[in-house]
This record gives sequence, C-alpha cells and structure tokens, in this order.
Amino acid sequence: MLKSTIIFLIIGLIIALILLSPLLIRKRRYLIKQRPFPPLWNAIIENNLPIYLRLSPDERRRLQGHIQVFLVEKQFIGCRGLQVTEEMKLTIAAIACLLLLNERGQYFPKLRSILIYPRTYFVTQTVAVDNYIVEERRDARLGESWTKDQVILSWEQVKYDIDNWRDGRNVVLHEFAHQLDQEDGQAEGVPILHRKSDYTIWSKVMTAEYKQLCNDIQQERETVIDSYGATNPAEFFAVATETFFEKPQKLMDKHQTLYKLMQVYYQIDSILWV
Ligand SMILES: [Zn+2]
Repeated sequence: MLKSTIIFLIIGLIIALILLSPLLIRKRRYLIKQRPFPPLWNAIIENNLPIYLRLSPDERRRLQGHIQVFLVEKQFIGCRGLQVTEEMKLTIAAIACLLLLNERGQYFPKLRSILIYPRTYFVTQTVAVDNYIVEERRDARLGESWTKDQVILSWEQVKYDIDNWRDGRNVVLHEFAHQLDQEDGQAEGVPILHRKSDYTIWSKVMTAEYKQLCNDIQQERETVIDSYGATNPAEFFAVATETFFEKPQKLMDKHQTLYKLMQVYYQIDSILWV
C-alpha cells in the first residue's frame, strides 16, 4: 500500500513539474530581466551595435532583457584557442536578440551553444561528385547554423559586419534567422508564425520574392537582396532578414510587400532605425 502511494506521489510530482515547467521558465526569465543592466554592458553594445541608439527606449529596454536571458541560457565556446570575451558574448547576443523583439517568448529553443572561431574556419566535407566518385573538399566558412544545437561564427566576420552594418550582410542575423527557421524541425524558409492564416500569406509573398530574385540573378540585374538568397528558400529567408535589418529603406522602396511581411513577423519597423 505504502509502496503504491509513493509511486503515485512520484508520478504526480513529475506530471506537476512537466505542467508547471513553462510557468517556471517564464518566472525565471522575468526575474533575470529584473536585474540591473550593467553600464559596462551598455557601453559595449553602444559601441558594437550601430543601430542600438536608434532603437526606441522601450525597444532598447526589451532588447536588454532578452540579452540578459540569452547570456544566462546559452553557452559560448571559443575554438582554435580563442578566449571568449565579454565583448564577444554581448555583441553576438545583442545582434541575435534583435530577432526576438516580436516577443514570441522563445529564445532559440534548440540552440545550446555558440562556437566562436577567431577567423574564417575550414570544414572538410565528403561530396559525391559522380555516381561512384566521392571527393573530400575543404570549405571555408564564416558561420553556420546547420548543426542541431549550435551556431558557429567567425569573430573576424562578426566584427567586419558591425563595421559594415549597411551592406546588407550580417553573419549573426543570418545564422540566427536560420535558428528561427529550424525551430519547427525543418529548414525550409518558414519560421513558426503567429496565426495559422499567416502561413498562406507568408508562402505567397516569399515564393514570389524568391522567384523574382532567382530571375534577377539569372538576368544579371542588380538586386537589393544579396544573390546568396537565390540558393534556396531557407537561405532566402536568412538573407531577407539581413536586408530587412541593414537596408530597410531600399527593401521598402523595391520590395514593399516583403518589407511589410518582415515588419509583421519581427514586429519592428527597421526603417525608423536608419
Ligand atoms: Zn545560410
């Protein structure tokens, strides 16, 4: 009798913990956000995030809260002897958390760690070049988000991108947009959207814009969106995100529908930050 009561109690406790877990996480994050934001952190972000001071006070406050949670929940690992500094963590967190201003309440849930290489790193890949021929290739990489729970970045590239904020390319925005895309387990250029009806609009706009970019590239026309976006729909979403944050005015001028779609998804008007 006592034995079965204990078993029932344990099972009940486990069920209660599972049910309460989202509430506990929310509560913990709320408390993290209540901590004072260190002035040194603020100074580093002011220095390294070119649009930081263009954010409204409310956006800046919310971004700081997301950064605090991000730094507690994600692990940073230096590779090739790189010593991870406060500056590196804050810079990467600040840029990545711009994508969380839509307040979905998710912090890249699949991501556990961010690996930082000092500069461009190389990956040896086995590639099938013909039916029976397999080749080993050494690919240069600036960043990637294709492994399950990791984002890999080159610090040299991160720094280059913050010095060239308006060129429409940013490895951190790019890789973390992939994280949003992969949150549902698939990398197909469709992140988790707010309402069911949003998927139809998303598919219509993104398919048309992706096709247009592919066409423009084929016709060798100049494009606002980087040509890398024509690789596949997943890359298109990542590159469109970079363009939305770095070249909002040009995106609005040439691709108003896409700008509006990004604006609704990210719940920000990046033109105001120009
Ligand atoms: Zn990519």
